[in-house]
Amino acid sequence: MTAKATEAQIVFCLVGSGAVRANPNRAGPCQLLRVGEDNLLFDCGRSAVHNLARFGWQAEQIDRVFVTHLHFDHVCDLPYLVLLSWNNGRDRVLPVCGPPGTDEFLEHSVRQAYREDIQSRLGHGKDLAGLQWVATESLGGQTVWSKAGCTVRTLATPHGGIANLNYRIDAGPCSVVITSDTQADDALAAFSRHADLLVCECSGPESFLRQQPWGTWHMSPADVATVARRAEVKHVVLKHLVVDDWSDDPAICDRMAEDVRAQFGGQVTVGTDGLTIEVHASP
Ligand SMILES: [Zn+2]
Ligand SMILES: [Zn+2]
Repeated sequence: MTAKATEAQIVFCLVGSGAVRANPNRAGPCQLLRVGEDNLLFDCGRSAVHNLARFGWQAEQIDRVFVTHLHFDHVCDLPYLVLLSWNNGRDRVLPVCGPPGTDEFLEHSVRQAYREDIQSRLGHGKDLAGLQWVATESLGGQTVWSKAGCTVRTLATPHGGIANLNYRIDAGPCSVVITSDTQADDALAAFSRHADLLVCECSGPESFLRQQPWGTWHMSPADVATVARRAEVKHVVLKHLVVDDWSDDPAICDRMAEDVRAQFGGQVTVGTDGLTIEVHASP
């Protein structure tokens, strides 16, 4: 990602376009937004840290992390990000926003799980200062961060009985909505109103989701189109793509995008790892 973000611009990078499955072509859920001088990371799933490095970013360059929910596909690389960031010389606290349980997850998966590793590194001179985080836990409906005309807000929606946050980032006139995994919910359309970019999970065609015990937790192409159309967003990026390797059908994601386009007049892009989009103010 070489583009520079200005106050009226967001640079978005889809770091990982996949989900649970160990698809070598799609890392787990992760998005990077460059807003002003800040690098904001949304989720940190499988191979996210590896992909950040592929696309030019080191762990210690991440200024803030926002977690959608604590399903493992969205947070399994977060302990690695925290520990690697410390190892690489991070010298400041890492703010982490997420649903209730986020601080406990980090406490268990970093401080407790790696207690002996941490003690060992302290023994050869590492400073604990770079291993500190401060967790902000949100139930949704809150502004969880603001700075210089940029705000990050949360919306809770149902997903598999777990606390679950969608995020909206407004920077000047530009706006991006990053959904969590979520079942279709009317509130998501209001939350996404007039967004320039809606980065939306789409875990499979309706026929596929109906066959899965977890299918009702997720959004089909028709669900995505309904949100995008009602919200009048400009551009939809499909993510959380598990069906191409699951079905062994490389064209299935393109057909999902066609299904969205059939009911939504804006731009629709199938997410790929490293997809980068600059969001500018409308002329
Ligand atoms: Zn997921
Ligand atoms: Zn999930």
